[in-house]
Parts: sequence; C-alpha cells; structure tokens
Amino acid sequence: MDEAEAEKASTPHGAWLRDWAERLGDTGAEEIGQANVGMFRQRRVLGTLRPARVAQVREIVASAPPGVALYPVSTGYNWGLGSREPVADGAVVLGLDRLRRVRRLDLDIAVAVIEPGVTQGALAELLAATPYMVNVTASSPHTSIIGNALERGVGLRRQRCEDVAGLEVVLADGRLVRLGNWPDERGRMVPYRHELGPGLMPLFAQSNFGVVTAAVIRLLPRPQALTVIRLTFDASRLARAVDELRRYYGQRLISGVLKIYQPVGDECWAFCCVDGDAELVACARELLMRRAGRSGLFDDIREHAGDDELHEQLQCCLGGDPRLNERVMERWFGAGAPGVDGNPDQGFLFFLPLLPFQGAAVAEARALVREIAAETGTTWTPTVNAISPDVIDLVVSCRFPKGAAAPAHQALDLLYSRFAAAGWRPYRLDVEHMAASGPPDLLKRLKDVFDPLGVIAPARYEPREGPVVDNAARGVCSP
Ligand SMILES: Cc1cc2nc3c(=O)[nH]c(=O)nc-3n(C[C@H](O)[C@H](O)[C@H](O)COP(=O)(O)OP(=O)(O)OC[C@H]3O[C@@H](n4cnc5c(N)ncnc54)[C@H](O)[C@@H]3O)c2cc1C
Repeated sequence: MDEAEAEKASTPHGAWLRDWAERLGDTGAEEIGQANVGMFRQRRVLGTLRPARVAQVREIVASAPPGVALYPVSTGYNWGLGSREPVADGAVVLGLDRLRRVRRLDLDIAVAVIEPGVTQGALAELLAATPYMVNVTASSPHTSIIGNALERGVGLRRQRCEDVAGLEVVLADGRLVRLGNWPDERGRMVPYRHELGPGLMPLFAQSNFGVVTAAVIRLLPRPQALTVIRLTFDASRLARAVDELRRYYGQRLISGVLKIYQPVGDECWAFCCVDGDAELVACARELLMRRAGRSGLFDDIREHAGDDELHEQLQCCLGGDPRLNERVMERWFGAGAPGVDGNPDQGFLFFLPLLPFQGAAVAEARALVREIAAETGTTWTPTVNAISPDVIDLVVSCRFPKGAAAPAHQALDLLYSRFAAAGWRPYRLDVEHMAASGPPDLLKRLKDVFDPLGVIAPARYEPREGPVVDNAARGVCSP
C-alpha cells in the first residue's frame, strides 16, 4: 500500500473519499496514478472524483472535510503546462468531464450554454451546418472550452476569454452563483461580456476562487468565404516581415489570429486569414497578395494548394472545425487525446510570454529562445500568435524525449527568468511556475472572501514569494 492508499484507508478524508467514490459509481472515481506529458513532478493526489451533475459538485465541495483540497479540471488536457496535475500536493482532483450537457444552443442570439465537459469538437459538430461557429484552438477536438477559457487560452479567432458572456460557479461553501449575462426563462439575453458594476467574472479566470459548472459562450458568424494565405520568408527578415504584417493586420486585411511559425530552420511561414463576404474576400485576397509581393520580403505567397497539412489544419480551425488537430496529437505523441499524457516517448512543454506586436521584439525573443536552446541542448520553437493589432502571444514549445526531461526543464526555468529580465512575462503559467502577479495582500483577502478554508485549488495563481513574477519590476507599489 503506498502513502496515498494508506491515507485513504485510515483518515477521515479517506472515508469521505471512499464514500463519494461509492456514490459516484465505477466511472465516477479513478485510481490514483497519473502521468503528464510535460514531465512535471507528479503531485501526491488523494484521488479523483468525477461527478456527473452540478448538484453532486455542490455537495462534494460543501462536504469536503477540513484540510481536503479539491482541484477542478474540465477535460484535464492542459498539455505542456501540467495537464491535470494540481499545483500543490495532497489534493483530490475534481474531474468535470462528465458534466457534458449543452444546456442551450440559441442560433438567433448566437450563444451556447455549456458545461465543462463539453469539448470543442462536440460543440463544433453541433454547429456544423449552421450560420454560426465556435472559436476553436489548435489543440485536440477532445479538449474543453471552459477549462481553456478559464486559462485565457487562445483560439484561432481570438483569446477564449472573449467568448465568455456568463459563468455559473460553485463557491467553496457549495453555493451556486450565476455571473455575467444569462438567458432568462424565455431565453432572452444579450451576449455582452461585462457585468453592471464591478466585473466578477474575470475573478474566476486564472484563480482558485470557485468551481465553474457552466458558461455562456458567444458564437461567431460563419464567414461566407474564407481563405488562408501563406507567406514564406527567411528568418533574417523576421523583424521587417512582422512589422509589415502588423500593417496588414491593423488595416484589417487579415482577420482572426495571425500565426507566424518559426521552425528550427531559417524558413518562416505566416498564415493570414482573409474572410467575410465573398466579394470582400476576393478583393482583400488580391490586395494582400499584391502588397506582400511588392514588399519584397516574402519568397513564396500562396493560398492553400492541398499539399501542406498545417495550412489545411489552420484553414479548418479558422472555419470552426478542430477535427484535423487530432492528426497532430497522433503524429507527435503516437496517440489521440486520452493517450497523450501516458505516451512512453514524447514529452512536451509550453512557455507563453506576451510581446508587443513589434518586429524587433519578435526577433529578440527568437534570439533568446535560440540562445537558451543551444545552452541546454534542447529544441524550442517560437510561434507568433497575434491576438490583437498590438499584442502577440508567443507560443514557445518544446518536444523532448521523456527520458531526457531534465535539460528541457532547465531550459524552461531559463525562459522564465531571461524573458522576465527582457521585460516580457507570460500570460499563462505551468504548475511549477505558478504565481499570480497582483498585490499579494489584496489577492489573499479575495481568497479569504471566496474560500476562507482553502478548499479550492491551493497555490493555483496565488501570490508567491520569489523572483518569477516581480511586482517591483512592474512598477507595482507596496501600500
Ligand atoms: C499540439 C497542441 C496544440 C495546442 N494548441 C493550443 C491552442 O491553440 N490554444 C490553447 O490555448 N492551448 C493549446 N494547447 C494547450 C492545451 O491542450 C489546451 O489549452 C487545452 O484546451 C487545455 O486543456 P483542457 O481544455 O482540458 O483544460 P483543463 O486542463 O481542464 O483546464 C485547465 C485548467 O483550468 C482550471 N479549470 C479547468 N476547469 C475548471 C473549472 N470548471 N472550474 C475551475 N477551474 C477550472 C484548472 O486549474 C485546470 O488545470 C495545445 C496543446 C498541444 C499539445
């Protein structure tokens, strides 16, 4: 019997956990023992409970014995950042993947009310033949919408938190609250992203103040026409190409999230989405290609020709269809979503800093990534995701043999420290580098208001002493 099993058998926590496991039945509880594709230290986990109804979530949260912490996850596929590992040891994972009801799909107002286990693939399928689509990410169709939105993940159209108009939250005492904008009994609502008065919804993203059991998700009009143009250029022209693309983006020649891939070699690819009314697309496409040609920066300018899988995948995602993404999981990890974490060979890490949308910054960031990769003997690739005309989410990722995780993690530590020294901090964190950046006293007081006994996800985006996020360097004054 290992330590966790012994604890389960002998303590009051153990009795509570056993009781819930029995009540939830075979599929409602899981054996302890988990792998994560990032090869982060495996946390000591007391068990996993998988309620199937919101009422059960409320009861579990309200009945948690003193000292028991719950770590909610939606589908738990937070790959590269810790997957479903809790931040702190000793938690019970609260898997919400069995809450998978689409409670409402309103194609007049263009919203879906969904639960945490609703995957982006499932919602995309429901919307397939409709005039609306959901903002999908490049991750597996089996990943959640709610978990990703709570992490402020990035879809192909916009940052996922922009999709959220309402949240249903179970608070630490088991109370259920609805925040933001919800359909009334006749289905009337306005899918507006803000609340009247202080915004409470954002407090539940990247925090540990509650368990989200549903969300109102804003849908996007399906464009009448959509094309993706790939611009190829040499990395030596990266800064100039980024500045040129920023101009196109700012003048709305490009829509959605502009992606610029910088694989290990010197060839970079920018994928530019042109969409909307069919005539508008025909004009904008010509204009974009002409401008790109005249700039002299791009060696190859082409629309999808059927010979580039990445081009095809992005085009599908921009049209609200994430199905092709699963190919990447299979190619990289030799397994579909459920097998990614446990795959025997391939590890995977993310580092996600924000940059200003500036060529010089992107080129400097690339040099920094290459320097750290060379120093540690690892391979990291930065991908630009322009999420607005002024902000870039730089997705820096590493695939490594699971047997050689140490240098990859050493590189990850260096990325955090050297990017911070350059003035660029991440917008989203992995389980080993979890520290919120707000004033610690204020964050602690908010935690006391929402969860005084520390039931929910201890250490997730909590303030922490140490240099990872340095408030002083950000100009935050002590009171
Ligand atoms: C090849 C590849 C491509 C990827 N592409 C993208 C991409 O384009 N964009 C992107 O953003 N990510 C991407 N990812 C990362 C990741 O797979 C996705 O972000 C994925 O959606 C996260 O997993 P999930 O949806 O299961 O969220 P979860 O793992 O369930 O949730 C993430 C975290 O949010 C919190 N949380 C979740 N649900 C709740 C809840 N109900 N209440 C309270 N807290 C909760 C938990 O702390 C949890 O750890 C990619 C990964 C890979 C390997």
